[in-house]
Amino acid sequence: MLRWCCTVFKTGSITKKIENTFSSKKQVLSFQGMRRLESAARDKYERVSGDSKIGKQIAVLPILDWSDSDVWLYIVSKRLPFNDAYRQGFSRVGCWCCPNNSAWSEFLSSIYMADEYDRFRKVLYNFAIKTNKNDITSYVENGDWKKRQGGNGIESAKNTFVSYRPCVFDENSFNFTLPHPIDEFLYTLFIPFGIIDSDTYSTSDDEVFILERGTRLPLLKLKGRKGECDLKVSVLKRTSAFKDLKKAEQYIKYQINKFQLCVGCTGCAQVCKHNAISIHLDDEQNVQYFIDAERCVGCLDCVKHFPGGCFMDKVLKIRKDSFKAGAV
Ligand code: SF4
Ligand code: SF4
Ligand code: SF4
Repeated sequence: MLRWCCTVFKTGSITKKIENTFSSKKQVLSFQGMRRLESAARDKYERVSGDSKIGKQIAVLPILDWSDSDVWLYIVSKRLPFNDAYRQGFSRVGCWCCPNNSAWSEFLSSIYMADEYDRFRKVLYNFAIKTNKNDITSYVENGDWKKRQGGNGIESAKNTFVSYRPCVFDENSFNFTLPHPIDEFLYTLFIPFGIIDSDTYSTSDDEVFILERGTRLPLLKLKGRKGECDLKVSVLKRTSAFKDLKKAEQYIKYQINKFQLCVGCTGCAQVCKHNAISIHLDDEQNVQYFIDAERCVGCLDCVKHFPGGCFMDKVLKIRKDSFKAGAV
C-alpha cells in the first residue's frame, strides 16, 4: 500500500507551524496521543524519541500504553469535547478516503459522505480505465486500488527516468540527460554541498562551480547551459562528503532526482534542522524551493534523507518497460 499523504499533508503543515512559532529554537518538545494498540508499527514506538519525521522535534507520547477504554473514560470523566465522527460510529478519525480505513469506515463514509464517496469512486473507475486494469470492478469495489505502488498512470512518473552515462575520459565526471531543462533551481539544490559560484573559476557561461565552505576551493563543476538538458557534473576535490567517489555520485544523483521530481511536498523542509529550506507553490502552482545559503551548514541531511534523494522517487518510481505512452 502506498501512502505518501501523511508526510505531505500532516507532517508538512505541522512542520510549518513549528517553524513559524519556534523559529529561534533548535529543538521543540511535542506531546502526541499515539498509542501502541493502534497499530503494529506504533507498538514499537518509544515514549520519548528524537527520531521523528520533523528534524527539530522531540516527540513525547504520554498515553502510549493506554487502551481505548482508558482514553474514553478519560474523555468522558473530564467532559472533553470529541469529534462527532465517533458519534456516527467511526472507530478512528482520519481522512475519510484513507486506503488504511476498514470496510466498516468505508461503509459509514458511503452513508455520511455520499457525494464525496461517489465522486471518489468515479475517480477510481476513470483511473482504472485509463491504465487498462484487467478487472476494473475488482480494482474499485474490492479495494485493489489500495495496492498500488509507484507512479504508473501518472504523467510526472516519466521524470523518474534520468539518462545517466559515466564519463569515459574522466572517472570523476558524470553525464546526465535531464527530462527537465536546466534552470536556477538546479544550482539551488547544490547549496548543501557548498557555495555556488559562477565567476571565480568559470571559463565559459555554461559553467557553475560549487566551492568548499571555508577554503573556497572548487569542489564540483556543473557544466550545462540553462534551458538545455545535457549536464556534466565533475568532482574536483575529494572532501569528507565526497571522499568515496561512489558516494559522491549517489549524492549528485539524489539532487538531480530532486530537480526532476520535486512537486513541493515539503519533505525536504521537514528534514532540515536549521530552517534553511523553504518550499511553497506560487500563484501559478509552480514549486518555489529555496535554500538559505546563510543558514545551510552543509550537514547533507536533506540530501540523504529520502531513498533516491526525493520522497517522490518512491511514490512515482515505475519500471521503464511498464511506462506506456497510453498509460498516462
Ligand atoms: S489518514 Fe490516510 S489518507 Fe489521510 S493523510 Fe494519513 S495516510 Fe493519508
Ligand atoms: S525534492 Fe522531493 S522530497 Fe524534497 S520537497 Fe521536493 S518533492 Fe518533497
Ligand atoms: S539539511 Fe543540512 S544541508 Fe540540507 S539545507 Fe539544511 S543545513 Fe543545509
